[in-house]
Amino acid sequence: MQNEPHVNSWYAATANTELDLPPLEGRSQCDVCVIGGGYTGLSTALHLRQRGYRVTLLEANRIGWGASGRNGGHVATGQRVDQETLEKLVGLERARQLWQLGLEAVDLVCRLINEHGIDCELKQGNLHVASKRADIAALPGEVEHLRKVYGYDGIRYIDRAELAGMTSAHGFGGATLDSGARHLHPLNFALGLARAALDAGAQLHESSRVLSYREGDKVLVKTARGEVEADYLVLGCNGYLDKLEPRAAGRIMPINNYMLATEPLPEDLARRLIRDDTSMSDSQFVINYWKLSADNRLLFGGGESYTRRFPADIKGFVRKYMLRIYPELADTRIDYGWGGTLAITLKRMPDFGRLGPNVFYAHGFSGHGVPTATQAGELLAEVISGTAERFDVMASVPAPRFPGGTLLRWPGLVAGMLFYSLRDRLG
Ligand SMILES: Cc1cc2nc3c(=O)[nH]c(=O)nc-3n(C[C@H](O)[C@H](O)[C@H](O)COP(=O)(O)OP(=O)(O)OC[C@H]3O[C@@H](n4cnc5c(N)ncnc54)[C@H](O)[C@@H]3O)c2cc1C
Repeated sequence: MQNEPHVNSWYAATANTELDLPPLEGRSQCDVCVIGGGYTGLSTALHLRQRGYRVTLLEANRIGWGASGRNGGHVATGQRVDQETLEKLVGLERARQLWQLGLEAVDLVCRLINEHGIDCELKQGNLHVASKRADIAALPGEVEHLRKVYGYDGIRYIDRAELAGMTSAHGFGGATLDSGARHLHPLNFALGLARAALDAGAQLHESSRVLSYREGDKVLVKTARGEVEADYLVLGCNGYLDKLEPRAAGRIMPINNYMLATEPLPEDLARRLIRDDTSMSDSQFVINYWKLSADNRLLFGGGESYTRRFPADIKGFVRKYMLRIYPELADTRIDYGWGGTLAITLKRMPDFGRLGPNVFYAHGFSGHGVPTATQAGELLAEVISGTAERFDVMASVPAPRFPGGTLLRWPGLVAGMLFYSLRDRLG
């Protein structure tokens, strides 16, 4: 039985709750069995309990062990894909519904933190910076489009001169400042959701990898030491789904993304890097994203890989991206470096669906899962309790299979991703 501890990250070092939940033992029954102890699974469990369902959640490792405990902590507005691309993909009316859902997702994260007293360093604002001429030129139009078509005025254009006073980040000629966005400590958010689900009466088990399940009027879910019989099953495994459910696996691709945490920085340096303590991100295909921690460390994410193995020297791997943006940190010590696996889809929008009458899933959140996977849990609870409206909006977004299915999807993806990341480097 695999049970891996949390990865050695700054988040794990500053986790504010010690959950030590027993593995599943023996045979039990419930209304809904949820697989995966990340935002998707935890939020599903919480929202179902609030509706009176008996819920058992099974996590192979620790709560928040996956991407939910390792990510950049950015809580962005809208969807992973920009609205103009979405309009082409699904039409204006559906794009409007998706934008609205995106705003509701950020609200949900804030409401859960507030209602359950989750201590996770919630802060406001994202400064999105652009370096390529075409990207800079497009920014004012994007802001105007959101204002005119979506009535959103939480975002504004920042020109080069104003930007220079907001950050010492190197090589950027314009930005947008989205004050609707938030950022937080991702693992403490996940642990807080778990605590809320436990308080609401959900059964949560760690060290409980699901080995298989059998569908029928009831679903029978098996781990090494136990079995759960449930009316419904929810899959919340995202980038760690592996071979558990081949019918859904072909629509997602697991990819790895990496982060570092510097040593705590002096206050004046921290303010120079990010004057207003917002999160920051850039417009590269392989996005760089960063923010400051409560103790003034720079938490910087950059670089991807597409095979199962992580680089041997993650600190060095991410540091080179950080130094391109902040050369002034050349002598700064790097205290932590870690990686995580997330799932992407071909269209970069999440894939929500139903595999049979009583098996549901949501995954493929790309780098947007803090709000979207949290909201997925609410929508999964809604659809199971008979209200499919919002779930169906997400499920209507096309999520084609990767060419080559689960076995052959790698070579094509790797070639494609490497092509785009090369374009980033060539500018
Ligand atoms: C380095 C990194 C940076 C990121 N930055 C951001 C960001 O800044 N903002 C943002 O919005 N998103 C970001 N993301 C993406 C975001 O973290 C994910 O989209 C989100 O956490 C997905 O949540 P989840 O619950 O679906 O999956 P996960 O959190 O990955 O949880 C899945 C869980 O399922 C468990 N599991 C898998 N198989 C089984 C099984 N057979 N039995 C039992 N349990 C099983 C795993 O152990 C895992 O804990 C980032 C991701 C990474 C890796």
